[in-house]
Amino acid sequence: MQLVIEHLSKTYPNGTHALKDVTLTIPQGMFGLLGPNGAGKSTLMRTLATLQEPDTGSVRLGDIDVLRDKDAVRRTLGYLPQEFGVYPKVSAEELLDHFAVLKGIIDRKQRRELVQALLQQTNLYDARRKHLGGFSGGMRQRFGIAVALLGNPKLIIVDEPTAGLDPAERVRFLNLLSELGENSVVILSTHIVEDVSELCSRMAIINQGEILLEAEPLAAIEQVRGRVWKRLIDREALPVFEQEHRVISTRLFAGRTVIHVASDAQPGPEFEPVDASLEDVYFTVMRGRLPTEEAVATA
Ligand code: ADP
Repeated sequence: MQLVIEHLSKTYPNGTHALKDVTLTIPQGMFGLLGPNGAGKSTLMRTLATLQEPDTGSVRLGDIDVLRDKDAVRRTLGYLPQEFGVYPKVSAEELLDHFAVLKGIIDRKQRRELVQALLQQTNLYDARRKHLGGFSGGMRQRFGIAVALLGNPKLIIVDEPTAGLDPAERVRFLNLLSELGENSVVILSTHIVEDVSELCSRMAIINQGEILLEAEPLAAIEQVRGRVWKRLIDREALPVFEQEHRVISTRLFAGRTVIHVASDAQPGPEFEPVDASLEDVYFTVMRGRLPTEEAVATA
C-alpha cells in the first residue's frame, strides 16, 4: 500500500497559499517531511488526516480515495498531532482503554490485552496508573503514539513530535517510531533535520507550500558530496562572503562564524571540504544554491 498525493493546493480564506500543487508518492516505511515553520507541513498533515479540505487535488491510500471516503481513512489512520489535549486526572491505562472503545474494540479481554501491549511497547507500563497530568513531555508523546497505534493503522501521521523533548526523551521517542515503519506508511513531519536523517528512508523538503525535493536522504547527500566547503570567518566579514560566494548556512563556533558554501571547486583560500550531511542538502535546497539543483530535485 502506498499514499499517492496529486496536485494538492490550498489557500486559506485570508489569502495564505499554504499548499501549491503538491504531488508526492509515499511508500511503506518511514517518510520524512522536512520544512521550516510555516512551510505548510501541518496543512498537508491535517488534509491527509481528513481534518480539513484542500481546494483541489487528490489523495489515494491504496484503493481508498482519502478526500471522499473519510470514514475508511479514519478506520485505518493513526494521527499524532503537534499538541493534543489530555484529561489530566485520568490514568494512561484508563484513557487508552477509553480510546480503544471509541475505535470499536468492544471485547473486554481483547481490549485489555491490547492496552497492556501498547503500554509496554511505548515504555509506559510502569506509569500506567499515573495521572496524565503528571506525565513529562516525552511520556505524553509516547502516550500519543500508543493512542495512534490503536486499531493497527496502515497510515500513521506524526506532526512535529520531538519539539520540546529533552535529548534522552527524544532518542527514546525516535527509537519507538523507527519500529513502526515496517507494515505502514509512516509520515514524520518536522523542522529538525536530524529527525529525518536518523530515521527516514525517504523524504521530501517543503517550503512555502512547495515541494522542493523528493529523495532518499543518502542519495541526496551523495549529490552534494564534494561540493560543500566550510571556513571560519569573523562575523563582520559575513556580508562580503555572502556577496562573493554561495553561502548556504552560517553558525557560531567559539565566538566566530563558520560558513558553509556551495561550490563545485574550492571557492578560495582557507576553505576546507565538508563531509556533507543532510543539513547541507537541506540548506542548499532551501536557498536554491546548487547549480544542478534540478538534477537533485528529480533524482
Ligand atoms: P507548518 O506546519 O509547516 O509550520 P502550516 O501548515 O501550519 O505550516 O502553515 C502554512 C501557512 O499557512 C503559514 O503561513 C500559516 O500561517 C498559514 N496557516 C495555517 N493555518 C491557517 C489558518 N487556519 N488560517 C490562515 N492561515 C493559516
